Amino acid sequence: MPELISNEDETTFVLINEDVLSTLEAHRQLDVSQPESGGILIGEYRGPHLNIVALTTPADGDLQSRFRFFRRSKSHQLIASKTWKDSNSTQTFLGDWHTHAEDHPSPSTIDKLDWGRKLPDRKMIVIIQGRSSRWYGIWDGQVLRKAKIIDN
Ligand SMILES: [Zn+2]
Repeated sequence: MPELISNEDETTFVLINEDVLSTLEAHRQLDVSQPESGGILIGEYRGPHLNIVALTTPADGDLQSRFRFFRRSKSHQLIASKTWKDSNSTQTFLGDWHTHAEDHPSPSTIDKLDWGRKLPDRKMIVIIQGRSSRWYGIWDGQVLRKAKIIDN
């Protein structure tokens, strides 16, 4: 099942497809030896709403440790650029994801600083995949706010 999230006043909805969710879950840090994983989210803007349809996963060049993921590989941006071309300029870089070694994750101070520096001046999504649940945030171009999951 896809997952639907929204901001507090339900003016922005974000649909995350099932393939994306299962890839996120496949990277959960269920074992103590597993490092953080991460990548970028790819999808489409639909008016004020977003559809997340794909993501990139760790590649050679990324730095992974138990408590940090540094996206250093050029492959993430290359995949985003190729997807943009192949989709007739509809699918683009829509956000950032990484895992946490905690059951119910929340952003670290470093996460918030990173996003504040890195995220562009347009609507974006951030996802932290924990061991049991996910934390979602919606970046409005200026400010990041926790998003809520809409139950089906
Ligand atoms: Zn983090």
